Amino acid sequence: MSHLMNTYARLPVAFSHGNGSWLTDSEGRVYLDALSGIAVSTLGHNHPDLVGAISTQAARILHSSNLYEIPLQTQLADRLAELSGMDEVFFCNSGCEANEAAIKLARLYGHRQGVETPTTVVMERAFHGRTMATLSATGSRKAQAGFEPLVAGFVRVPYNRLEAIRAVARSNKNIIAVMLEVVQGEGGINSADIEFLRGLRALCDDRGWLLICDEVQCGMGRTGTWFAFQHARIRPDVVTLAKGLGGGVPIGACLAAGLAKGLFRPGNHGSTFGGNQLATTAALTTISVVERDGLIERAVTIGELIRDGLREALGDCPGVLDIRGQGLMIGVELGRPCAELVTRALAAGLLINVTADTVVRLLPPLTFSADEGRELVARLAPLIRDFLRTA
Ligand SMILES: *Cc1c(COP(=O)(O)O)cnc(C)c1O
Repeated sequence: MSHLMNTYARLPVAFSHGNGSWLTDSEGRVYLDALSGIAVSTLGHNHPDLVGAISTQAARILHSSNLYEIPLQTQLADRLAELSGMDEVFFCNSGCEANEAAIKLARLYGHRQGVETPTTVVMERAFHGRTMATLSATGSRKAQAGFEPLVAGFVRVPYNRLEAIRAVARSNKNIIAVMLEVVQGEGGINSADIEFLRGLRALCDDRGWLLICDEVQCGMGRTGTWFAFQHARIRPDVVTLAKGLGGGVPIGACLAAGLAKGLFRPGNHGSTFGGNQLATTAALTTISVVERDGLIERAVTIGELIRDGLREALGDCPGVLDIRGQGLMIGVELGRPCAELVTRALAAGLLINVTADTVVRLLPPLTFSADEGRELVARLAPLIRDFLRTA
């Protein structure tokens, strides 16, 4: 019997090594990776620059603690500020921790405004993590069930509905922030409309609320800009990152600007591992390879190639409701629950995911080539067709 706690419904496969967009299992079978370990392996597997940089760093120093100066952390904060237009960065190790920092910042901000029970507006179908505060911010009753009492201080509205936020604000005088994923990942690849984002920015400015963008999944170039909020040409007050930031090495970040700047003081927040030498080297290297190799531009063209290919192959399928997404964040919504497509794809040598019951989710590495994009379509489209034919 396994001594692992029973928290995952794992597929019966273990990978022994990888190369680019391909993974090999313990039996020697090879798979095309169209998921990147859920948007983590930005540069694919075993990227020579990343392997080299973290090996060299490991031989120098892995960790010293935030009791001391960490020049690599300062450098990474500079790079992230430059790419995002944000001002300050706090480093942690995961997406939920980045969001915890964001939620704490918002509460501190509220208290500084004299609001005793600061409240953050969150979205239906949102996913912000599994810690108590981020679970409470998450819009899934299934994920929350059994873990009550939830953390107070959140109100929920439908996504992409500015009027719903205005309506909530009429009855609730404690609102101090609005938090959303610019593209919802777990919720089924739902993009915020540009007009909604701009309206939200204006509303937050008008009311003195913080605009918090959770870019844990959609950030780091995946949607065709470094950060998805940049499509709307707005600047949030808080941005959270993790998943793709370290190319596979755990690292998260909470970025602040505007009204959210300068709120934390020593003693307000911290993390033992946050921003250590290993993790910051991985992130600095990931960023410089994405930049050097033009991987963001590539995310746009390969993403289009994949969506066009899927539309061509599945356009006449009545069971395919929508093919959507931005860059290499792609969703194919079917007319019925399709979780079993994941095992069928595995048998066909393809790694995909199904989220929100009915949405096939594709998050290939940003290094995905045009040939790999065509191969993905060639493997996936017949699986979806067969699935929809056999009920
Ligand atoms: C995955 C995810 C998180 C949680 O990240 P962890 O590293 O698993 O804690 C938070 N927000 C979004 C949008 C995510 O996709």
